[in-house]
Amino acid sequence: RVVVVGSFNVDHVWNCASLPRRGETLSGHYHTGPGGKGFNQAVASARAGVETGFLCALGDDDGGRQARALAEADGIALRVHESLHPTGTAGIYVDEAGHNTIVIGAGANGDLSASWVSRQAQALAGARVLLSQLESPLDSVLEAMRLARAGGTTTMLNPAPANAQCLRELLAAADVLTPNETEFAALLERHTSHRIDSETIASTADAQLHKLCRTLLPRGTVVITLGAAGAFVSHREDLLRGDDTPFYRVAADKVQPVDTTGAGDAFNGALAAAYAQGQGRAFAEHVRFANRYAGLSTEQVGAAQAMPRLAVAG
Ligand code: ADP
Repeated sequence: RVVVVGSFNVDHVWNCASLPRRGETLSGHYHTGPGGKGFNQAVASARAGVETGFLCALGDDDGGRQARALAEADGIALRVHESLHPTGTAGIYVDEAGHNTIVIGAGANGDLSASWVSRQAQALAGARVLLSQLESPLDSVLEAMRLARAGGTTTMLNPAPANAQCLRELLAAADVLTPNETEFAALLERHTSHRIDSETIASTADAQLHKLCRTLLPRGTVVITLGAAGAFVSHREDLLRGDDTPFYRVAADKVQPVDTTGAGDAFNGALAAAYAQGQGRAFAEHVRFANRYAGLSTEQVGAAQAMPRLAVAG
């Protein structure tokens, strides 16, 4: 079983010819749908065919009711911290080149408290993987990771979005850390004396990337997602089994992307699901599945709704 602790947002998306500038009024094509990193990742895990729980905070409004109905439709076991604030929202403008600007109204998500999380031990008990992100209050994410670890659950942290604070304690509580290139560069800058330009990560030598990953997370596995280039993996060397290698790349599938929003979320949910389901398999196989799953998600428009139904092998 996978348990995700994180955010739910109602996404409001406008596709426009260009992004609006200050004082400018534009018209664009509008659609709305469910999102939020936590929810997207939970849906991905569930649609990868693995029993999934989702802990989040919702308001008493249409957005909250939508979250409950959607979770039920995907068979996700929901635990809700009921908030007096409105359910989270995101206002997203996307231009013709696919670039976006996003404003998030955390709303209820900001109320997910460490004390509430600490009362959810039952929901975490027996889970193989706990997966969280930085779109929720950090003390509640930390509490979830500590509870999970104490119960022998593997902790996965997707340190997104890139501009969020990430406490050193959170890094220390992660068994697996899954930044994209921007997030990896930001974490290195904040937590180490090393620097890397996010644009150069995919072309950096593997041994050098491995060294940077070991500096950032000496005790855990780091998986850097590289968009169309797939992912780079760095393991702690003394934990490897005989035939495993400490670092390697896993290529992405060739796809025809129409919307890469949520590709990182698809990857994280699928990786957690594959890991939970396939104990005993090589980690690289889990990453291969996550690449395939995330690649497929880019061929659909939307965030949570774009998650493919593709079960990880049992
Ligand atoms: P984010 O969405 O957080 O920016 P990435 O761009 O690194 O994350 O994408 C996450 C994963 O999605 C990649 O590791 C890969 O598996 C898949 N992916 C993203 N873009 C593509 C693409 N153009 N072709 C194939 N796979 C892709």
